[in-house]
Amino acid sequence: MHIHLLTLFPEVCHPYLDASIVGRAQKSGIIRVSVHDIRHYTSDRNRVTDDAPYGGGGGMVMKPEPVFAAVESILDTERHGSEIILLTPQGRLFSQDLAYKLAKLDHIILIAGRYEGFDERIRDHLATDEVSVGDYVVTGGELPALLIVDAVARLIPGILGAVGAAEQDSHGERGLLEHPHYTRPVNYRGWTVPDVLLSGNHEKVAKWRKKQSLLRTWKRRPELLLEAQLSEYEKEWLTGLAEESVVKCK
Ligand code: SAM
Repeated sequence: MHIHLLTLFPEVCHPYLDASIVGRAQKSGIIRVSVHDIRHYTSDRNRVTDDAPYGGGGGMVMKPEPVFAAVESILDTERHGSEIILLTPQGRLFSQDLAYKLAKLDHIILIAGRYEGFDERIRDHLATDEVSVGDYVVTGGELPALLIVDAVARLIPGILGAVGAAEQDSHGERGLLEHPHYTRPVNYRGWTVPDVLLSGNHEKVAKWRKKQSLLRTWKRRPELLLEAQLSEYEKEWLTGLAEESVVKCK
């Protein structure tokens, strides 16, 4: 997979992309992330990438010419239908589902905005999708873009060490939150690791983890259970749990 990240601040992106899992994945050639400085695609002497908004008001708007030029130069080499994603708080919310869909593509172009955002013609005539990372506003699209690169990269086969690790994560294939984790020491300040995890009985551990995952999802994000892939046994177990808590509340 080749991801292109278009930005006015490449220096913000490189340290994250060169480190840890994404960095290793690039070194091993499983993914490639190219960071493009939008300023390089200006044609004027001052390399201007933004201008005042028509109609007045504060803030600056990202000009269409350099953004179109940057994307078109990438498309000249990547002819196989890239997804062109505009990062904006007005886009559809990023999710694990969308990460799974993007992980199947060969090319993705992510465009990070700054200032008041993009000239509307970029939105209307260049982007194929608009994505938000949450209902809040950050200063630039670099962090949202890096977040998407990371979430997508860890789903590409071969990038995570343990086989199936991403499927077991929260919001993984089953749509549940993950079970709790513990590591050494067994007793920390009097808080102990559950006995079952020390038992060495893999079947019991697996069963405990499944139940904890269900319980956690039920307590913290019950709406996820409506879409989760559950066995008949798990559905019955949850129904019992719900009935028990109704009785306790009465
Ligand atoms: N004036 C814009 C608005 O109200 O929709 C917000 C502009 S924001 C300060 C500057 C840039 O940061 C945006 O163009 C976008 O690329 C990025 N950005 C900010 N919040 C974001 C979010 N929640 N998701 C994705 N990108 C975001």
